[in-house]
Amino acid sequence: MGIQESLPGGVILTSLETVAGLARAGSMWPATFGLACCSIEMMSTGGPRWDLARFGMEVFRGSPRQADLMIVAGRVSQKMAPVMRQVYDQMPDPKWVIAMGVCASSGGMFNNYAIVQGADHIVPVDVYLPGCPPRPEMLIDAILKVHEKAKATKMGAHRQAEITELEELALQAEPTSAMKGLLR
Ligand code: SF4
Repeated sequence: MGIQESLPGGVILTSLETVAGLARAGSMWPATFGLACCSIEMMSTGGPRWDLARFGMEVFRGSPRQADLMIVAGRVSQKMAPVMRQVYDQMPDPKWVIAMGVCASSGGMFNNYAIVQGADHIVPVDVYLPGCPPRPEMLIDAILKVHEKAKATKMGAHRQAEITELEELALQAEPTSAMKGLLR
């Protein structure tokens, strides 16, 4: 809530969106959130060899209130799912999520009752990153894709229209219980 919600659509808002998008992409801070082996690669990405500081985001925040990017690094257990959702809810808007690795994206080889079969059952995911584990270069590539998305994030009336459109698309999607795949 705030000034963003009361902004009218039009030329001025479009210019503001461009400036805000550049600022958001250039100052993105990830939440400290590692769940399994993938988090080792995530930590390497912040080290001197891959140097995440080049993108203004070497500071992994200990508080979700200071973070706008959640990197789900590793498999999500049923026990961890509500915690993950709580951390996500505590992050301020706008925020983005990367599902890092095959486990976070789809449950991976852990097709069992203990593991959530994809982080998108718990939080909305912006970028799915394949691999087991993905290398730091792949994570940086995913982060750059999130930056592009952040630059295009809308504000005010444009954002409301975008949310309505996304919700309508989600309602039209086939429910997972009706999907046919390898297991049915
Ligand atoms: S994708 Fe591989 S490295 Fe990542 S959490 Fe799963 S098993 Fe571990």
